Amino acid sequence: MQAPKGTYDVLPAEQERRALLEARARKILGAAGYRRIETPAFEATELFSRGVGAATDIVQKEMYSFDDGGGRSLTLRPEGTAPICRAYMEHGMHKLPQPVKLWYLGSFFRAEQPQRGRYRQFWQIGAEAIGAAGPETDAELILLLGSLLDAMGVKGTRLRLASLGNPETRSAYREQLTAYLRAHLDELSAEVRARIELNPMRAFDASDPGTRAVMAGAPKLLDQLSADDAEHFALVRELLDAAGVPYELDPTLVRGLDYYTRTLFEFSSDALGAQSGVGGGGRYDRLIEQLGGQPTPGVGFAAGVERILLAGAEQPIAPEPVDLLVALADRDDRVSVLTAFDLAHEARQAGLAAQYELYGRSLKSALKHADRINARYVAIVNDPLHASLRDMDSGEQQELEPSRLIATVLRGSRLS
Ligand code: AMP
Repeated sequence: MQAPKGTYDVLPAEQERRALLEARARKILGAAGYRRIETPAFEATELFSRGVGAATDIVQKEMYSFDDGGGRSLTLRPEGTAPICRAYMEHGMHKLPQPVKLWYLGSFFRAEQPQRGRYRQFWQIGAEAIGAAGPETDAELILLLGSLLDAMGVKGTRLRLASLGNPETRSAYREQLTAYLRAHLDELSAEVRARIELNPMRAFDASDPGTRAVMAGAPKLLDQLSADDAEHFALVRELLDAAGVPYELDPTLVRGLDYYTRTLFEFSSDALGAQSGVGGGGRYDRLIEQLGGQPTPGVGFAAGVERILLAGAEQPIAPEPVDLLVALADRDDRVSVLTAFDLAHEARQAGLAAQYELYGRSLKSALKHADRINARYVAIVNDPLHASLRDMDSGEQQELEPSRLIATVLRGSRLS
């Protein structure tokens, strides 16, 4: 049996890098006042059809939806923002000091065509600031995502930026764009033609040369922003300029979620192949209202954990150091086994990273193993009163009672 197509196992060898990502995210986001939240793996389907947008690819063809047995439709979450807005409303977070700043790390589900960097169950790390309308919040989230990618050694990143304005400007623009596309119908791909009414903006995403040539001359939303939206966008850019963050304006930037207003951004990395988007986000000032709440501004980002790890893969990570490996001189001596096993347990309780040699290796191969796992000391237990402690750095070995061993290792590892 194999794992379902587009899913994969996270094996022990990969855990360290993931744990490192989690630790760095906690540090970077925590320092800016973001606190962790986790929402359930599935939600009412309506949350996503209303939140993400009924016309998006995600809702149209990528959701894992199922009947819960009682006639209600549930969906494995394809993204994190709508669930967090649901939680914000459900828990009355508008009563907390605003903005409410949250981050999350968890798995998400989309029935996409699997390839390198694109899976059906994938992990995202994301952050949301709900309740603040100012452009500083947009800039802050962009900076935080940039710092996180840097901290994970993601190389060759490129930041693209756009503004989608407000829904009114956008719907006027949409009509204009639809008319333009209709006037060039013959030059467009069949897929784009079929979706003109549903989602004309996606034509900017098309890869066929015919459509691309048409789109090069298409009207751009960025040229038509309202005065307020243009001012907001100008401030976001000034803040990024002042912070020394390079970016490119990309009037054709589109993302697969309908809830965005104003700022939209995406980081990509040269280190990735076709799936170069490593993370992105934007402002969603109408989303909470759309979900039935009071009008509340928000902005956030989501980044793909697999893609961060793929793009930052060349950065070596040293394994966690091991203070002590406990081995036995004679495995058949039951009293030694009890002494050694207890020693490893007590060493851990004393705060040491201690491992018991579980595999039954000979002494020689236990020492080799100690090298491999980067152990500072190896204890070889002979009997309840006699043990040898080997310092793996100096190669020196001393004989002592097992009861004194932990104190000696503690002293040694504190000195080193
Ligand atoms: P999105 O929620 O579509 O804005 O995606 C945010 C980020 O999540 C992307 O930049 C990717 O890094 C990652 N991502 C989205 N979909 C997938 C997927 N199917 N497999 C792996 N990563 C994904």
